[in-house]
Amino acid sequence: MQHIAFIGLGNMGAPMAHNLQRAGYRLSVFDLSAAAVDSLSSAGARAASSVADAVREADVVITMLPADRHVRELYLGENGVLKNALSGSLLIDCSTISADVAREVASAAATAGMAMIDAPVSGGTAGAAAGTLTFIVGGDAAALDRARPVLGSMGKNIFHAGGAGAGQVAKICNNMLLGILMAGTAEALNLGVAHGLDPKVLSDIMAKSSGRNWALELYNPWPGVMENAPASRGYSGGFGASLMLKDLGLSQQAAASAQTATPLGSLARQLYQLHQQNGNGADDFSSILRLYHRS
Ligand code: NAD
Repeated sequence: MQHIAFIGLGNMGAPMAHNLQRAGYRLSVFDLSAAAVDSLSSAGARAASSVADAVREADVVITMLPADRHVRELYLGENGVLKNALSGSLLIDCSTISADVAREVASAAATAGMAMIDAPVSGGTAGAAAGTLTFIVGGDAAALDRARPVLGSMGKNIFHAGGAGAGQVAKICNNMLLGILMAGTAEALNLGVAHGLDPKVLSDIMAKSSGRNWALELYNPWPGVMENAPASRGYSGGFGASLMLKDLGLSQQAAASAQTATPLGSLARQLYQLHQQNGNGADDFSSILRLYHRS
Protein backbone atom coordinates (compact mmCIF):
# COMPACT_ATOMS: atom_id res chain seq x y z
CA MET A 1 0.00 0.00 0.00
CA GLN A 2 1.27 3.49 -0.82
CA HIS A 3 2.74 5.71 1.88
CA ILE A 4 0.94 9.07 2.15
CA ALA A 5 2.11 12.20 3.96
CA PHE A 6 -0.88 14.35 5.01
CA ILE A 7 -0.17 17.91 6.15
CA GLY A 8 -2.84 20.29 7.50
CA LEU A 9 -5.27 18.49 9.80
CA GLY A 10 -7.92 21.17 10.37
CA ASN A 11 -11.70 21.05 9.93
CA MET A 12 -11.29 19.44 6.49
CA GLY A 13 -7.87 17.77 6.59
CA ALA A 14 -8.50 15.70 9.73
CA PRO A 15 -11.60 13.85 8.45
CA MET A 16 -9.97 13.41 5.02
CA ALA A 17 -6.89 11.85 6.64
CA HIS A 18 -9.10 9.61 8.78
CA ASN A 19 -10.70 8.25 5.60
CA LEU A 20 -7.27 7.44 4.11
CA GLN A 21 -6.31 5.72 7.35
CA ARG A 22 -9.52 3.65 7.21
CA ALA A 23 -8.80 2.77 3.56
CA GLY A 24 -5.56 1.12 4.70
CA TYR A 25 -2.91 3.59 3.48
CA ARG A 26 0.29 4.02 5.51
CA LEU A 27 -0.04 7.56 6.78
CA SER A 28 2.42 10.11 8.19
CA VAL A 29 0.73 13.27 9.43
CA PHE A 30 1.86 16.77 10.40
CA ASP A 31 0.14 19.93 11.62
CA LEU A 32 1.28 22.92 13.67
CA SER A 33 -1.41 21.95 16.18
CA ALA A 34 -0.33 19.02 18.37
CA ALA A 35 -3.96 18.25 19.24
CA ALA A 36 -4.79 17.84 15.54
CA VAL A 37 -1.89 15.40 15.11
CA ASP A 38 -2.95 13.45 18.22
CA SER A 39 -6.40 12.74 16.82
CA LEU A 40 -4.80 10.97 13.82
CA SER A 41 -1.96 9.25 15.66
CA SER A 42 -4.42 7.73 18.10
CA ALA A 43 -6.15 6.25 15.04
CA GLY A 44 -2.86 4.64 13.93
CA ALA A 45 -1.13 7.27 11.75
CA ARG A 46 2.55 8.11 12.33
CA ALA A 47 2.95 11.53 13.97
CA ALA A 48 5.71 13.32 12.08
CA SER A 49 7.84 15.92 13.86
CA SER A 50 8.15 18.27 10.85
CA VAL A 51 7.21 18.67 7.20
CA ALA A 52 10.53 17.08 6.22
CA ASP A 53 9.91 14.12 8.51
CA ALA A 54 6.38 13.67 7.15
CA VAL A 55 7.37 13.54 3.48
CA ARG A 56 10.72 11.77 3.58
CA GLU A 57 9.38 8.30 2.61
CA ALA A 58 6.05 9.28 1.05
CA ASP A 59 4.90 8.23 -2.42
CA VAL A 60 2.10 10.82 -2.23
CA VAL A 61 1.99 14.15 -0.35
CA ILE A 62 -1.40 15.75 0.37
CA THR A 63 -1.81 19.24 1.82
CA MET A 64 -4.95 20.93 3.17
CA LEU A 65 -3.88 24.40 4.31
CA PRO A 66 -5.68 27.72 4.78
CA ALA A 67 -4.32 30.07 2.08
CA ASP A 68 -1.65 31.12 -0.47
CA ARG A 69 1.07 32.03 2.01
CA HIS A 70 0.84 28.72 3.89
CA VAL A 71 1.02 26.70 0.65
CA ARG A 72 3.95 28.71 -0.80
CA GLU A 73 5.98 28.45 2.38
CA LEU A 74 5.21 24.79 2.98
CA TYR A 75 6.18 23.71 -0.54
CA LEU A 76 8.89 26.22 -1.49
CA GLY A 77 10.42 27.07 1.92
CA GLU A 78 13.88 25.96 3.11
CA ASN A 79 12.45 23.08 5.15
CA GLY A 80 9.56 22.50 2.79
CA VAL A 81 8.13 19.71 0.67
CA LEU A 82 10.15 20.25 -2.52
CA LYS A 83 13.47 20.15 -0.66
CA ASN A 84 12.57 16.96 1.21
CA ALA A 85 10.12 14.78 -0.73
CA LEU A 86 11.29 11.85 -2.86
CA SER A 87 11.95 12.55 -6.52
CA GLY A 88 9.05 11.07 -8.49
CA SER A 89 6.53 11.53 -5.71
CA LEU A 90 3.04 12.85 -6.43
CA LEU A 91 1.97 16.11 -4.76
CA ILE A 92 -1.73 16.94 -4.26
CA ASP A 93 -2.71 20.32 -2.84
CA CYS A 94 -6.37 20.35 -1.77
CA SER A 95 -6.30 23.87 -0.27
CA THR A 96 -8.32 26.64 -1.92
CA ILE A 97 -5.72 29.18 -3.10
CA SER A 98 -5.05 31.48 -6.06
CA ALA A 99 -4.46 29.93 -9.46
CA ASP A 100 -1.22 31.95 -9.69
CA VAL A 101 0.32 30.34 -6.61
CA ALA A 102 -0.97 26.90 -7.66
CA ARG A 103 0.84 27.32 -11.01
CA GLU A 104 4.01 28.67 -9.37
CA VAL A 105 4.26 25.71 -6.98
CA ALA A 106 3.39 23.14 -9.68
CA SER A 107 6.10 24.54 -11.92
CA ALA A 108 8.69 24.41 -9.09
CA ALA A 109 7.57 20.82 -8.37
CA ALA A 110 8.12 19.83 -12.02
CA THR A 111 11.63 21.31 -11.86
CA ALA A 112 12.26 19.20 -8.73
CA GLY A 113 11.11 16.05 -10.59
CA MET A 114 7.72 15.75 -8.89
CA ALA A 115 4.23 15.69 -10.41
CA MET A 116 1.68 18.02 -8.87
CA ILE A 117 -2.04 18.66 -9.17
CA ASP A 118 -4.25 21.31 -7.57
CA ALA A 119 -7.30 19.49 -6.19
CA PRO A 120 -9.48 21.88 -4.16
CA VAL A 121 -12.65 20.33 -2.82
CA SER A 122 -16.33 21.02 -2.45
CA GLY A 123 -18.71 19.33 -0.01
CA GLY A 124 -17.79 20.90 3.33
CA THR A 125 -16.86 19.18 6.58
CA ALA A 126 -19.83 16.80 6.30
CA GLY A 127 -18.61 15.66 2.87
CA ALA A 128 -15.05 15.30 4.22
CA ALA A 129 -16.29 13.11 7.09
CA ALA A 130 -18.54 11.00 4.85
CA GLY A 131 -15.86 10.58 2.15
CA THR A 132 -18.15 12.14 -0.46
CA LEU A 133 -16.12 15.22 -1.43
CA THR A 134 -15.99 16.58 -4.96
CA PHE A 135 -12.41 17.13 -6.19
CA ILE A 136 -11.89 19.85 -8.81
CA VAL A 137 -8.55 19.15 -10.38
CA GLY A 138 -6.00 21.16 -12.36
CA GLY A 139 -2.87 19.54 -13.79
CA ASP A 140 -1.93 16.97 -16.37
CA ALA A 141 -4.07 13.90 -16.98
CA ALA A 142 -1.29 11.43 -16.16
CA ALA A 143 -0.78 12.94 -12.69
CA LEU A 144 -4.54 12.93 -12.11
CA ASP A 145 -4.72 9.25 -13.08
CA ARG A 146 -2.07 8.45 -10.46
CA ALA A 147 -4.10 10.41 -7.89
CA ARG A 148 -7.49 8.84 -8.64
CA PRO A 149 -7.35 5.89 -6.17
CA VAL A 150 -6.28 8.19 -3.33
CA LEU A 151 -8.88 10.85 -4.16
CA GLY A 152 -11.48 8.09 -4.46
CA SER A 153 -10.88 7.18 -0.80
CA MET A 154 -11.89 10.72 0.24
CA GLY A 155 -14.53 11.68 -2.30
CA LYS A 156 -16.98 10.47 -4.88
CA ASN A 157 -16.73 12.99 -7.73
CA ILE A 158 -13.55 13.94 -9.56
CA PHE A 159 -13.60 16.66 -12.23
CA HIS A 160 -10.64 17.54 -14.44
CA ALA A 161 -10.97 21.30 -15.03
CA GLY A 162 -7.79 21.71 -17.15
CA GLY A 163 -4.07 22.39 -16.69
CA ALA A 164 -2.27 23.58 -13.54
CA GLY A 165 -4.35 26.16 -11.65
CA ALA A 166 -7.60 25.34 -13.50
CA GLY A 167 -8.97 23.47 -10.47
CA GLN A 168 -8.51 26.63 -8.42
CA VAL A 169 -10.25 28.84 -11.00
CA ALA A 170 -13.27 26.51 -11.05
CA LYS A 171 -13.35 26.27 -7.25
CA ILE A 172 -13.18 30.06 -6.87
CA CYS A 173 -16.07 30.52 -9.33
CA ASN A 174 -18.08 28.04 -7.24
CA ASN A 175 -17.28 29.72 -3.94
CA MET A 176 -18.04 33.19 -5.25
CA LEU A 177 -21.49 31.89 -6.17
CA LEU A 178 -21.81 30.19 -2.76
CA GLY A 179 -20.95 33.43 -0.91
CA ILE A 180 -23.57 35.30 -2.95
CA LEU A 181 -26.17 32.57 -2.34
CA MET A 182 -25.51 32.38 1.41
CA ALA A 183 -25.82 36.17 1.85
CA GLY A 184 -28.95 36.18 -0.35
CA THR A 185 -30.50 33.30 1.58
CA ALA A 186 -29.87 35.02 4.93
CA GLU A 187 -31.34 38.26 3.53
CA ALA A 188 -34.50 36.55 2.26
CA LEU A 189 -35.07 34.58 5.48
CA ASN A 190 -34.61 37.72 7.55
CA LEU A 191 -37.15 39.61 5.42
CA GLY A 192 -39.74 36.86 5.91
CA VAL A 193 -39.14 36.60 9.65
CA ALA A 194 -39.40 40.40 9.99
CA HIS A 195 -42.93 39.95 8.61
CA GLY A 196 -43.73 37.29 11.19
CA LEU A 197 -43.05 34.16 9.13
CA ASP A 198 -41.59 31.03 10.71
CA PRO A 199 -38.06 30.56 9.23
CA LYS A 200 -38.62 26.80 8.91
CA VAL A 201 -41.90 27.22 7.03
CA LEU A 202 -40.37 29.89 4.78
CA SER A 203 -37.35 27.63 4.12
CA ASP A 204 -39.64 24.73 3.19
CA ILE A 205 -41.58 26.99 0.79
CA MET A 206 -38.47 28.38 -0.93
CA ALA A 207 -36.86 24.92 -1.10
CA LYS A 208 -39.78 23.81 -3.29
CA SER A 209 -39.85 27.08 -5.25
CA SER A 210 -37.53 28.85 -7.64
CA GLY A 211 -35.35 30.35 -4.88
CA ARG A 212 -34.04 26.91 -3.94
CA ASN A 213 -30.27 26.64 -3.54
CA TRP A 214 -27.61 24.64 -1.62
CA ALA A 215 -27.25 27.20 1.21
CA LEU A 216 -30.99 27.13 1.85
CA GLU A 217 -31.53 23.40 1.48
CA LEU A 218 -28.42 21.82 2.97
CA TYR A 219 -26.73 24.51 5.07
CA ASN A 220 -29.55 26.71 6.30
CA PRO A 221 -28.17 29.82 8.07
CA TRP A 222 -31.13 30.24 10.45
CA PRO A 223 -30.52 28.56 13.87
CA GLY A 224 -32.82 25.61 14.50
CA VAL A 225 -34.14 25.20 10.95
CA MET A 226 -31.74 22.38 10.13
CA GLU A 227 -30.50 20.17 12.91
CA ASN A 228 -27.10 19.31 11.39
CA ALA A 229 -26.18 22.75 10.04
CA PRO A 230 -23.53 24.88 11.82
CA ALA A 231 -26.25 27.51 12.52
CA SER A 232 -27.86 25.02 14.93
CA ARG A 233 -24.63 24.58 16.93
CA GLY A 234 -23.71 28.24 17.42
CA TYR A 235 -22.00 28.44 13.99
CA SER A 236 -19.10 26.30 15.24
CA GLY A 237 -17.00 24.07 12.94
CA GLY A 238 -17.90 24.11 9.26
CA PHE A 239 -16.35 26.62 6.83
CA GLY A 240 -14.95 29.70 8.57
CA ALA A 241 -16.26 33.15 7.55
CA SER A 242 -12.62 34.27 7.25
CA LEU A 243 -12.02 31.48 4.70
CA MET A 244 -15.08 32.59 2.70
CA LEU A 245 -13.72 36.16 2.80
CA LYS A 246 -10.39 34.80 1.49
CA ASP A 247 -12.18 32.98 -1.38
CA LEU A 248 -14.25 36.04 -2.31
CA GLY A 249 -10.97 38.02 -2.36
CA LEU A 250 -9.49 35.38 -4.70
CA SER A 251 -12.53 35.72 -6.97
CA GLN A 252 -11.97 39.47 -7.19
CA GLN A 253 -8.25 39.00 -7.99
CA ALA A 254 -9.24 36.53 -10.72
CA ALA A 255 -11.86 38.98 -12.05
CA ALA A 256 -9.31 41.80 -12.19
CA SER A 257 -6.73 39.70 -13.99
CA ALA A 258 -9.29 38.65 -16.63
CA GLN A 259 -10.91 42.13 -16.72
CA THR A 260 -14.30 40.57 -15.98
CA ALA A 261 -17.13 42.29 -14.12
CA THR A 262 -18.29 40.47 -10.95
CA PRO A 263 -20.48 43.07 -9.17
CA LEU A 264 -22.32 40.55 -6.98
CA GLY A 265 -19.06 38.83 -6.02
CA SER A 266 -17.63 42.22 -5.13
CA LEU A 267 -20.64 43.05 -2.93
CA ALA A 268 -20.50 39.63 -1.24
CA ARG A 269 -16.81 40.25 -0.47
CA GLN A 270 -17.70 43.58 1.14
CA LEU A 271 -20.43 41.93 3.24
CA TYR A 272 -18.01 39.27 4.49
CA GLN A 273 -15.35 41.94 5.14
CA LEU A 274 -17.82 43.79 7.35
CA HIS A 275 -18.84 40.55 9.02
CA GLN A 276 -15.21 39.74 9.83
CA GLN A 277 -14.62 43.26 11.18
CA ASN A 278 -17.59 42.69 13.48
CA GLY A 279 -15.65 39.81 15.06
CA ASN A 280 -17.23 36.81 13.29
CA GLY A 281 -14.25 35.56 11.27
CA ALA A 282 -13.81 32.32 13.22
CA ASP A 283 -17.48 31.33 13.01
CA ASP A 284 -19.01 29.35 10.16
CA PHE A 285 -19.72 31.47 7.05
CA SER A 286 -23.50 31.00 7.44
CA SER A 287 -23.21 33.35 10.45
CA ILE A 288 -23.47 36.14 7.83
CA LEU A 289 -27.10 36.06 9.02
CA ARG A 290 -25.90 38.19 11.97
CA LEU A 291 -25.39 41.12 9.57
CA TYR A 292 -29.16 41.08 9.09
CA HIS A 293 -30.55 39.67 12.31
CA ARG A 294 -29.51 39.95 15.96
CA SER A 295 -30.52 36.82 17.85
P1 NAD B 1 -8.56 25.00 9.10
O1 NAD B 1 -8.09 26.36 9.46
O2 NAD B 1 -9.57 24.28 9.97
O3 NAD B 1 -7.28 24.00 8.97
C1 NAD B 1 -6.04 24.37 8.45
C2 NAD B 1 -4.97 23.55 9.17
O4 NAD B 1 -3.69 23.83 8.59
C3 NAD B 1 -4.86 23.90 10.66
O5 NAD B 1 -4.97 22.72 11.44
C4 NAD B 1 -3.48 24.53 10.77
O6 NAD B 1 -2.83 24.29 12.02
C5 NAD B 1 -2.74 23.84 9.62
N1 NAD B 1 -1.55 24.55 9.18
C6 NAD B 1 -1.41 25.85 8.82
N2 NAD B 1 -0.14 26.10 8.47
C7 NAD B 1 0.53 24.93 8.60
C8 NAD B 1 1.90 24.56 8.40
N3 NAD B 1 2.82 25.43 7.99
N4 NAD B 1 2.26 23.28 8.65
C9 NAD B 1 1.33 22.38 9.09
N5 NAD B 1 0.04 22.68 9.30
C10 NAD B 1 -0.35 23.94 9.06
O7 NAD B 1 -9.08 25.10 7.60
P2 NAD B 1 -10.11 24.10 6.84
O8 NAD B 1 -11.50 24.53 7.12
O9 NAD B 1 -9.67 22.70 7.08
O10 NAD B 1 -9.79 24.53 5.31
C11 NAD B 1 -8.58 24.16 4.65
C12 NAD B 1 -8.69 24.60 3.19
O11 NAD B 1 -9.82 23.95 2.59
C13 NAD B 1 -8.90 26.12 3.00
O12 NAD B 1 -8.18 26.56 1.88
C14 NAD B 1 -10.39 26.23 2.78
O13 NAD B 1 -10.72 27.39 2.02
C15 NAD B 1 -10.69 24.94 2.05
N6 NAD B 1 -12.06 24.42 2.19
C16 NAD B 1 -12.69 24.38 3.40
C17 NAD B 1 -13.98 23.87 3.49
C18 NAD B 1 -14.73 23.82 4.80
O14 NAD B 1 -15.95 23.56 4.77
N7 NAD B 1 -14.08 24.03 5.94
C19 NAD B 1 -14.63 23.38 2.35
C20 NAD B 1 -13.94 23.38 1.13
C21 NAD B 1 -12.66 23.90 1.07
